[in-house]
Amino acid sequence: MGAVARSYVREGRRRVGSKRARIRPIVERLVAEHPDAVIALRFRSEVDLLVSVMLSAQTTDVTVNRVTERLFQKYRRPEDYLAVPLEELEHDIMPTGTYRQKAKNIRGTMRMLVEEHGGHVPIRIEELVRLPGVGRKTANVVAAERGATQGIVVDTHVRRLSQRLGLTREEDPAKIEHDLQRLVPKADWGRFPHLLIWHGRRVCNARSPRCEDCVLADLCPSSRIA
Ligand code: SF4
Repeated sequence: MGAVARSYVREGRRRVGSKRARIRPIVERLVAEHPDAVIALRFRSEVDLLVSVMLSAQTTDVTVNRVTERLFQKYRRPEDYLAVPLEELEHDIMPTGTYRQKAKNIRGTMRMLVEEHGGHVPIRIEELVRLPGVGRKTANVVAAERGATQGIVVDTHVRRLSQRLGLTREEDPAKIEHDLQRLVPKADWGRFPHLLIWHGRRVCNARSPRCEDCVLADLCPSSRIA
């Protein structure tokens, strides 16, 4: 961001007021605007959920759903992922990209589920992040979808919108999550990322945000129409 853009945003911050005063109306307006803002990945079980989130790295939810439609017919329990040669699993998830690494991680995770968790997916973030290939973002998504929200998911949309809305000045996802946790009411931690993700896809695009159609324009220091 250049000097002009920085001063523009600083000016915007003065115009819209403190983030503490803005966070509730931001959440309320996004809930009204995107009542359908839920996870786009399709799954039927806790194991499906974990695998689909692991597969979603570096690809689209549409691609993951296309692949898992057949995958989850074939692999239902952790043992099923361990019963086939690694190459077969690689082939089955190939369209999601980086399939060698993903297959290796899924196998390692399934082995740990069987050996240490009785075939179940743990619910605590600290246990989830011990699974091979499961980072904090994946762990947060899995925990939140199972009704045990313990943090705030920070993906590329959440990062971009949090910055544009002046809710954080950080770049690092862990620091952004920390800022958001101090700001967003805990009851909203689960749905807040979905709201930003859908608003990011539909209105506040990375390249050309549609500020003229945005319900947050008067609350956003980066608005181009203020
Ligand atoms: S679309 Fe514009 S006004 Fe809306 S959140 Fe994005 S930058 Fe702000």
